[in-house]
Amino acid sequence: MSAISPDLRQSVARRAGHCCEYVRLPQASQVAAFPVDHVTPRSGGGETELANLALACPQCNALKWIHTVAVDPESGEEVELFNPEFSGSSAESVGKNGLIGGDEVRFLEA
Ligand SMILES: [Zn+2]
Repeated sequence: MSAISPDLRQSVARRAGHCCEYVRLPQASQVAAFPVDHVTPRSGGGETELANLALACPQCNALKWIHTVAVDPESGEEVELFNPEFSGSSAESVGKNGLIGGDEVRFLEA
């Protein structure tokens, strides 16, 4: 297990605006500190570096787990899960309905 240093964790949180990078839930609204997610899991070769880390609320972190793709229940096709680093999760990308990029952010049952 590769530890995430306090400095790296702070860099992730600062870049994320202290919000979950998947659903933009503010850390300040929660009691527990948000975990840092490896977007590409370590088991898939993902590195413990800023470009591969995302601040994730406990629910996102638990549901995403090590997955990077899932089967879309509507199309039946395998699709990549939302990647905050490459999709852009800045406040500007959050649509008026609070959904990132105007698309529904959802997790598929594992
Ligand atoms: Zn979340």
